[in-house]
Amino acid sequence: MSDGALGLLSPARADLPPGDEGSVITSVETYALSVPLPRTIADATAFLTAWTVPVVEIRTADGRVGTGISGVHCGPELLCQVIDRYYAPALVGTSAEDILGTWKRLYWLPTHWIGRSGVVHMGLSMVDIALWDLAAQRAEVPLWRLLGGTADPIETYNTDGGWLNLGVADLVRDLQSLVDRGWRRVKIKVGKANWREDAVRVRSVRQAVGADITLMCDANQRWDFATANRMLPVLTEVGMDWFEEPVHADDIEAHRRLQQTGAIDVAAGESLYSYHAFASFIAADALRVVQVDVTRVGGVTEWLQIASHAAARGLRLVPHAGDMMQVHQHLVGTVLTESPPLVEFIPWTQDVFRHRSVVRDGYVERPQAPGASSAVAAGARERWQVKGVGATTTLDR
Ligand code: MG
Repeated sequence: MSDGALGLLSPARADLPPGDEGSVITSVETYALSVPLPRTIADATAFLTAWTVPVVEIRTADGRVGTGISGVHCGPELLCQVIDRYYAPALVGTSAEDILGTWKRLYWLPTHWIGRSGVVHMGLSMVDIALWDLAAQRAEVPLWRLLGGTADPIETYNTDGGWLNLGVADLVRDLQSLVDRGWRRVKIKVGKANWREDAVRVRSVRQAVGADITLMCDANQRWDFATANRMLPVLTEVGMDWFEEPVHADDIEAHRRLQQTGAIDVAAGESLYSYHAFASFIAADALRVVQVDVTRVGGVTEWLQIASHAAARGLRLVPHAGDMMQVHQHLVGTVLTESPPLVEFIPWTQDVFRHRSVVRDGYVERPQAPGASSAVAAGARERWQVKGVGATTTLDR
């Protein structure tokens, strides 16, 4: 491998890692799909009318296509540009089988200087997911089987209810409908300007769904420590299972202080981008529910590292589903953990994918098609592709 940025960016000068001829990457294509939501929804930080899925398709000489995805509500062009401009030239001509080597090579490109989190890291995640999708296809097994996971269905919890823009009556009706459809665990958004309003909302929901349903709540970082602390007795009273992103995502100390009250498990992870970020929270005993998201950390490779670290310390592992669970349905149940596997489910992008997830009575069945279930369905680009976003990089032979 040649040293320096120019060497890394020039595939002609890169030494090919081991791997058969069929695994050589011949092209990298990016695009984005924007799927309208059935209704406008809000949490404490955003109103959403659509969900966008940035996509990278990595083709290899044997004709296979690996697909990597992310999930955003702004900036899909930025993720695609990182891949097109910086990652794709460093990928074509190399072996798709060299997943760990590729991860390190892309991570230490000059883009490291401008982002070890956010857009740059999410682009790396998309590439890594595509390479794992290819690895499972080449092994002709679903990704969960390649990773040695359990074949049992996995319980999901549903987040597509309890939105902050619903009035109390609609909120109750919304969550009750999820329970009626088979979910035993559902989440409520909190973070109103006046926390007393949230207190009324969570008490109303608990009264409606009864004591047997597991409730979680999510403040999406919008409270300060004092407000979050004031909510703890209310959340404890209604038996809330976890308190998600109670304060700013970077404030380890505030998370630690809330966790140390012992009143309720603190959950976080959708705004953490690296093994080191999670390790810092875990070392501070600042959370008990680890919501590592494969689309935020550096793909499957880093997800597995963080999940193993958390599980070995007895923490609950419940991924945040930036991918709407499409890839996470493979990852849960592959790591040794004492608590039963659980994954977040939101149904917004089911029609985007060739192999839809199958959820019955709140449990997702293990996918059977080879790969990571990330391949895009026929016709999806015609319906939802975002104009002017994406590019194709090919290998010049
Ligand atoms: Mg959240």
